[in-house]
Amino acid sequence: MTVMSPEELALYPFLTEASEYVSELDFSLDALMTGLGFKEARRRGNERVTEAFTGEITKPTFRNEEEAIAELLSYPFARILVSCLNEPAFTRRYALAEATAAHSLLKETIVKTPEFALDFGKDFGITASKSDEHVKIYFSDYIRYSLAMKDISRKLINRHLEKGYVTVSRDEFIRLLQEAVRKRIESSLPIPNIPDGMRAACESQVAELRTRYEEQRQNLGDADLGEVDFTMFPPCINKALSNVREGVNLAHSMRFSMVSFLLNTGMSADEVVNVFNVSPDFSEEKTRYQVEHISANQYKTPSCATMQTYGNCTGRDNMCSKIRHPLGYYSALKYIAAKRKEKEEKYGKDEEEKGGKDEEEKGGKEEGKTTE
Ligand code: SF4
Repeated sequence: MTVMSPEELALYPFLTEASEYVSELDFSLDALMTGLGFKEARRRGNERVTEAFTGEITKPTFRNEEEAIAELLSYPFARILVSCLNEPAFTRRYALAEATAAHSLLKETIVKTPEFALDFGKDFGITASKSDEHVKIYFSDYIRYSLAMKDISRKLINRHLEKGYVTVSRDEFIRLLQEAVRKRIESSLPIPNIPDGMRAACESQVAELRTRYEEQRQNLGDADLGEVDFTMFPPCINKALSNVREGVNLAHSMRFSMVSFLLNTGMSADEVVNVFNVSPDFSEEKTRYQVEHISANQYKTPSCATMQTYGNCTGRDNMCSKIRHPLGYYSALKYIAAKRKEKEEKYGKDEEEKGGKDEEEKGGKEEGKTTE
């Protein structure tokens, strides 16, 4: 990549060259967190994290090199805030917002200087070249970044493949770059071992972000933040989900049970495929085939007895003794939560706490009705 100016780097602060530029600047992280000279970097850093809640980070503006450097430094500060907040669903949202902002900037650029976009791709290990109004991208790079993208035809069979290169439109190439940026940012967060002093310096900002995060979570539900709300799922399903996240292979019977359970809770096939999109060896092709097969045949989720037979009943809790089916567990907890909410709205919190136990009893009975 040709050497970029601070103004250019400020637009793309996640590039290797930008981080090298920042590490050559003569300042300490403590100064970034508290120094007067870095006030604007902190303000903008906070702004880019806050704007990620809406999904749109505003286009940066700067009039001179000094302002461009403040913009550039706002990125490491934003990363510190996201790391201190440490909510995986929000981290994903933040990474997507940064990548979407980069997409808009690159879109403006590619028409005038397509070479820049090709150079940009090199930073992510993408081998590509210009071909008239299109871009030729090496097939393995195409596969790596197109897998999670619903708006790009993923199957190589639908693509023109020549000597190992796939031809994509310029727009598609920019979308692939966006995905590369998203992946880089998401996989590099949270920053490990942030010193206590740095945490203390941004404590109040993180507290505000946490309040906003919780508000949004309650208003929209976790699903809107790209994460399933697992709080009402039975222990066996939660265990399977955490195994997926940790890259532990699920037994075929457990994989089947988990997928059918998630589909039966009302999740779409796409959403279920995305649940697996955190596993290190995620294969969208394979996962989609399995999920769509289970969905199309409307297979029933196995009962607790079957789960026990296959050794998939793990982490039984009190509710498990009242139900006979994982979906019964889920509907019982939903019933209890709905009743609690109803009471809370009617009588206030104290009364709701008094009545909580009764509802738990009824929830178990309700499950009997829903799964028998
Ligand atoms: S009893 Fe049923 S719901 Fe509970 S952990 Fe076992 S299989 Fe899952």
